[in-house]
Amino acid sequence: MGALEGAGCVGSIAQQLRLRLDRLRLRAGELAEPALARLAGRRLALCLVAVLTLLFVVAGGLSPRVALLGLAGAVAFAAFWRKGDSAASAAATAAAQAGVDARRLWRMVIDAVPDPAVALDPAGRLVHANHLAEDLFGTRRVGGHMASMSRDPDLLAAVEEALASRQRQTVELHGRVPVERRLLATMVPLGHAAGLLHDAPALLITFRDLTEQDRLARMRADFVANASHELRTPLAYLKGSVETLQGSARDDPAAREVFLRTMGEQAERMSRLVDDLLSLSRVEMREYLPPSGEVDLATVLSDVVQTLEPMAQRADIALTLHSKEQTALVRGDYDELAQVFQNLVQNAIKYGHSGGKVEVRLGREPAGKPGRWRIDVADDGPGIAAQHLPRLTERFYRVNVAASREKGGTGLGLAIVKHILNRHRGELTIASTLGQGSTFSVLLPEAPV
Ligand code: ADP
Repeated sequence: MGALEGAGCVGSIAQQLRLRLDRLRLRAGELAEPALARLAGRRLALCLVAVLTLLFVVAGGLSPRVALLGLAGAVAFAAFWRKGDSAASAAATAAAQAGVDARRLWRMVIDAVPDPAVALDPAGRLVHANHLAEDLFGTRRVGGHMASMSRDPDLLAAVEEALASRQRQTVELHGRVPVERRLLATMVPLGHAAGLLHDAPALLITFRDLTEQDRLARMRADFVANASHELRTPLAYLKGSVETLQGSARDDPAAREVFLRTMGEQAERMSRLVDDLLSLSRVEMREYLPPSGEVDLATVLSDVVQTLEPMAQRADIALTLHSKEQTALVRGDYDELAQVFQNLVQNAIKYGHSGGKVEVRLGREPAGKPGRWRIDVADDGPGIAAQHLPRLTERFYRVNVAASREKGGTGLGLAIVKHILNRHRGELTIASTLGQGSTFSVLLPEAPV
């Protein structure tokens, strides 16, 4: 976290430096252009001064060093002395100033584009790139060809086509380095602007990053496929059982009993899955609405432990709650927080070992100091291998699918926990040692007094 903040800080300092440099570059351009215009307007007078100085050197014996100094003074004077500008040079200065303003304007517009954007001249050379484009392609020299930014043949062909035909072009770019990404580049020729604005670019290219959109679409498709698969399995079993009961098992009371019992279990499984799916969609919808109520975690935990005591007894597991706190207030929703701890304690009982124990501990983090509440749910079951830990809160992720199904699991419990904790600005950490057990820890900010 510290390293991330540090990187963010360095990034923002670099950004500010870059902005200042740009401003300096612009300012230098603004000063240089009127000076050049004045020099152009006074070039006849300067020629005369140069000829006279040469005469003084050749015929009058003036030292060349003094002559050079005098000439430099005359050039500086002609460049920067505003008063007495001739009408022509005043017009040239005004035109140059208008050009500077126009250039500044379209650069500002390109900088304000919320996607990476670059502007090219009619020869395909870079005129300006906003910071997002520099982040995407790395800083590039103004005046360099587009090929120095990207060697993608489709992009370069589309740039050429757009410049030649003056027609809008779009092209998809696929990159694998450093990470896989898909970009949509749109090229818009600026023919009209070139007529209206001094020195305006010929082509504007914007890049839209479609990678995140693709990832979300893939996640949605995977989720639908997983949910359908989970529902189809018990459904297939129910259909098969009905056919058997109508056929071969019609007159076999013992077989009928077995089939009906298993059908009941499968229907139960489907109903749990539908409940969890609905629950997940509800918490996802509300994830960005911070809860407004006040909840006492000591009460929530004591209610959850009491509710799950019978389940622990059936599994021959000693379930205990340890808390030195009388009250532990958080901003929250009672039902959602109860669902979090119910899920964690149920898992600890389900995946713990018979004859073992499950401990629920409530305290402060850091110990003894106000700030955040820490709730540990610890079991002494078989534990979870390290490679599974980062994926446990993914929907339908299970260490052992068969074991989870056998224990009535849907693979959605920890995903629901994660979303509820996000809504409560909480955190979930999981520590586990194979053969020794697992501890699921929840951190929640203390309610402001
Ligand atoms: P499930 O409905 O399968 O229990 P969860 O999302 O609640 O789904 O948990 C995901 C997976 O995490 C479980 O299938 C199980 O493999 C693993 N898991 C969760 N809690 C524990 C635990 N206390 N001990 C061992 N494994 C656990």
